[in-house]
Amino acid sequence: MGVLIRLCLTALLVVGCSTSVEMTNCEGSFYFDSNVTFDEEKSAYEAARRWNEWVGRPVVRIESSGRCRIFEDPIKDATAIAYRWPDTGEIQIDQKKIVLRCPDESCREALFMHEFGHSFGMGHIPDGERGIMSAHRIPDVDVDFTPADRLECERHGPCVYADEL
Ligand SMILES: [Zn+2]
Repeated sequence: MGVLIRLCLTALLVVGCSTSVEMTNCEGSFYFDSNVTFDEEKSAYEAARRWNEWVGRPVVRIESSGRCRIFEDPIKDATAIAYRWPDTGEIQIDQKKIVLRCPDESCREALFMHEFGHSFGMGHIPDGERGIMSAHRIPDVDVDFTPADRLECERHGPCVYADEL
């Protein structure tokens, strides 16, 4: 109950109060564009599973009727391998860069876990901290959530404050 009230009060300032206040406009629901490869799809499914396991309830779903698209298209920014569009919620991935710089499964999973984090409104963890939400993950890849991620997830993501459990 305490948690719900806090979420509603926070949300009123931003998007109004509903049962999915902790989500952004995608509400954790995504679908694949036809140009996403099988390997990328596999990594995205696993990233969603790991998010749900980490939070302890289903917060990311990939379904044919999903709200926000995951699609492939070259990204001009030389440093970016994937990008989450704030206005549409879409997740764009750059296949060429993934093949070159993020070819193994754990790296691809971390990539999707990172972008799903942004879709909840989470930002990057501070410079020097390790974690999925680090802005400087690749090539020094962190493949699992860390306490720094948990803190950011409690601030802006779907995680519940530890003291309210
Ligand atoms: Zn990022």
